[in-house]
Amino acid sequence: MIAMKVYNNDTIAAISTAVGEGAIGIVRLSGERAVEIASKILRQNNKTSLSDRRSHSIFLASVVDPEDGSLVDEVLVSIMRAPNTYTREDIVEINCHGGAVALRKTLGLALAAGARIADPGEFTKRAFLNGRIDLTQAEAVIDAIRSRTDAALKAAINQLEGGLSRDIGDIAEDIANVLTQIEAAVDFSDEDIETLPKQHLIETLRGAVNKIDRLVRTAVRGRILKEGVKTAIIGRPNVGKSSLLNALLRRERAIVTPVPGTTRDIIEEMVNVRGIPLILTDTAGIRDSNDEVERIGIEFSRKAIKAADIIICVLDASQEICDEDLALISEIGRDTAVLVLNKTDLPQKISRENLQLPGNFKAVVKVSAISGAGVEALEEEIEKILLDGSVGIAGSTIITNARHEQLLEMALGHVREATALIEADQPEEIVSTVLKESLDCLAEITGEAIGDDILGRIFSQFCIGK
Ligand code: GDP
Repeated sequence: MIAMKVYNNDTIAAISTAVGEGAIGIVRLSGERAVEIASKILRQNNKTSLSDRRSHSIFLASVVDPEDGSLVDEVLVSIMRAPNTYTREDIVEINCHGGAVALRKTLGLALAAGARIADPGEFTKRAFLNGRIDLTQAEAVIDAIRSRTDAALKAAINQLEGGLSRDIGDIAEDIANVLTQIEAAVDFSDEDIETLPKQHLIETLRGAVNKIDRLVRTAVRGRILKEGVKTAIIGRPNVGKSSLLNALLRRERAIVTPVPGTTRDIIEEMVNVRGIPLILTDTAGIRDSNDEVERIGIEFSRKAIKAADIIICVLDASQEICDEDLALISEIGRDTAVLVLNKTDLPQKISRENLQLPGNFKAVVKVSAISGAGVEALEEEIEKILLDGSVGIAGSTIITNARHEQLLEMALGHVREATALIEADQPEEIVSTVLKESLDCLAEITGEAIGDDILGRIFSQFCIGK
């Protein structure tokens, strides 16, 4: 696969700010004719022509319709000349007043003056095709825009600054060094030169395996940061699930009611627990029921348990534990669950000590959803369960992209295979082929070797104007 490093070098234009009313809105132009096109639709208060303006300067101007000379908006214009720009092309940014009409008219005039409307992500795609950033950095742009928590943004910015690219480059270098030696052995196989330092090659490849493996393992955390953690709050009716959800959200959203079995709809909310986005699902209690609607709720709960990454199982500690509670607990056959003893502000009938549970809980936490007591401790336990064991050293690379994860796993397989082949004294030609396959996978991550179809798919996820 070879990247098609050619593209229409026509000049593109788009509204780069969000739709709707804002204080300012930006029409951005990029390409060889950006300055020329902009000068057709701008009138300046002083006589310096646009093409004589210094690069990276800002000035006041008016957008005028060249057809009839009518005034569209008073604007601030930034001019940035290639190559030190976002796209490495000439860029003109016209800062309009943020109304939709002024923006659309200005864009319309730019298009009439010779620009083409930009595809989604085309500015960033040009930055990639012109070699200013690699593909992982381009992908980080969209991640940064979509980040929902500080931690997700941090991961995206680290990738944008080339953190992942450096890690990949480092691994590729190790593999390439081994490949060079293997190929030399093939080339000089007729000559009586010293045999390959087999052990050294194996060690280098093992080092590469460890590095790739470490990256792959960060993907758990990456997915958590990017997509959130599906969290199911389960428990029989009236134990305080909605109240707990509210305590976590710290705002009223679910309708809290003392009538059992009224939380029939599944409510989804996102709550940021120590930088981890939890997607909370509040379900009706699992219990045997003849009520049709209720039963659907129960089905939902069972499905929710299956679909959830983590389960918060709530008991009412002011009542004796009952068969319903136990039936529900027995549905939870995994260890990413926390047991919450709620209503600890009332006289207690269940205590942590006298609990004999069939379920497999990581932690038992006492809370009062009403007073908020213990909710912080619950958050702490949730964080522990999710991030324990997953690599998460601040500032280090985190894989947040499924495409990268898949390619890394493939590269890992190839490097492991090559190591085994060397160990088994297999022919160098075979080892060499397998090593090259691993390098291809790494090159596809950074975009050095990538097909147009994949590129198209990646950039089409962007918003227009980015
Ligand atoms: P759900 O059916 O499990 O969602 O339970 P709700 O959140 O609707 O709560 C049922 C009832 O228990 C409501 O009257 C709540 O006010 C009450 N409740 C919930 N949590 C607590 C708590 O920690 N302490 C006390 N005293 N009452 C609670």
